[in-house]
Amino acid sequence: MLPTIANSMFRPYLHVFENTSVADYLPEYSLLQPFWDYLRVHHQDTLRSPLFPVIISVSGYFFFSTLFMVLDLLAPKLPLLDKYRIHPEKPVSWSDISKTLGLTIYQNLVYIFPVSVAQWYWRPPTQLPAAAPNLSELLCGVVGCTLLFDFQYYIWHVVHHKIQWLYTTFHAIHHEYYVTFSWVAQYLSAWELFTLGFWTTVNPLILQCHCLTTWAFMVFNVWISVEDHSGYDFPWSMHNLIPFQLWGGSIKHAMHHQKPLTNFAPFFGHMDWIFGTGTDLKHSPAVQEKKIKGKDL
Ligand SMILES: [Zn+2]
Ligand SMILES: [Zn+2]
Repeated sequence: MLPTIANSMFRPYLHVFENTSVADYLPEYSLLQPFWDYLRVHHQDTLRSPLFPVIISVSGYFFFSTLFMVLDLLAPKLPLLDKYRIHPEKPVSWSDISKTLGLTIYQNLVYIFPVSVAQWYWRPPTQLPAAAPNLSELLCGVVGCTLLFDFQYYIWHVVHHKIQWLYTTFHAIHHEYYVTFSWVAQYLSAWELFTLGFWTTVNPLILQCHCLTTWAFMVFNVWISVEDHSGYDFPWSMHNLIPFQLWGGSIKHAMHHQKPLTNFAPFFGHMDWIFGTGTDLKHSPAVQEKKIKGKDL
């Protein structure tokens, strides 16, 4: 008797769960839908190509690094710009640029190009779902992939500093520069370059991201790795916008190149905080000046 009464009482509510799924309660229309529809209609062949993620990553790297390179070349003549460099006492020279850029071009031709051709030949074209991701889904996906990448690289980085053979064989090349500039971001051994590329490819698969989220993460990852090495500390740099030192950014990574057994995390601040590997950070003269003025007011 009781089960029958309960059944009839709760049936109107229960059928909600019987006939629907959680997805039905999520916002149906994504703000990104018109943009996604445009991309799918007009650029379908480009987006479906297995080469597309490689092209946006490589061209993104050259584009962002060139922007900072232009600033590096202007900085010695523009004191107002120069004081936003973390180490204005060490200008970036043409020989630094040509050496790092030379290795990047060599690695793109010798490693990345053949791997990309193999991927283009063997990998099936990317499936483009009809629905765009929600904006919150895209942002959470990018942050999630970056957090995972930060964790993976922290472990890799500590191991490659603590084990002498690994350091000299695979990571020492990246530490040729005590003062960083944009092209140092990929001044890496082939093994380190491959590892970073692997996580950038695999993390969106682990977190089951939409392909638009995956591409956004890839471009974002390139931007933050270039910004990390840029040697600039602008008021709008991410580490100055995100509070509580949650984001380490360029000042933290510049310190890693000065004191290589500290600040192992590439982007966020929490891993070095948890394991006690962080140190005091040095801001650019311009930001230091602003901070002192702010305290005096
Ligand atoms: Zn570095
Ligand atoms: Zn290192």
